[in-house]
Amino acid sequence: MPAYEFRCRQCGTEYEIRATISEYSKGLKTVCPSCGSEDGEQLISLAAIFRGGAGGSGGFGGGCWGPSCCGGN
Ligand SMILES: [Zn+2]
Repeated sequence: MPAYEFRCRQCGTEYEIRATISEYSKGLKTVCPSCGSEDGEQLISLAAIFRGGAGGSGGFGGGCWGPSCCGGN
C-alpha cells in the first residue's frame, strides 16, 4: 500500500497517509496528527527526481582540456 506525503497548512507538520490507489483516486481525507486540521497539501515526491537536473556548478574542478588552455609550452 503506497503512502502519500502531506504537509499541514496550519502547523506545517508533515505526515503520511497510507491508502490504496482506488482510495487515493476517490480523494483522501487528510487529518494532521499534530493539530487535527484537514487542510493538508500533498507533497509531490516526484520533485526529488527532477532536483538533479537543475543548477549544478560543473564538476570537473578546472581540469585542462587541451594543449592551449593552460598556457601550453
Ligand atoms: Zn497541523
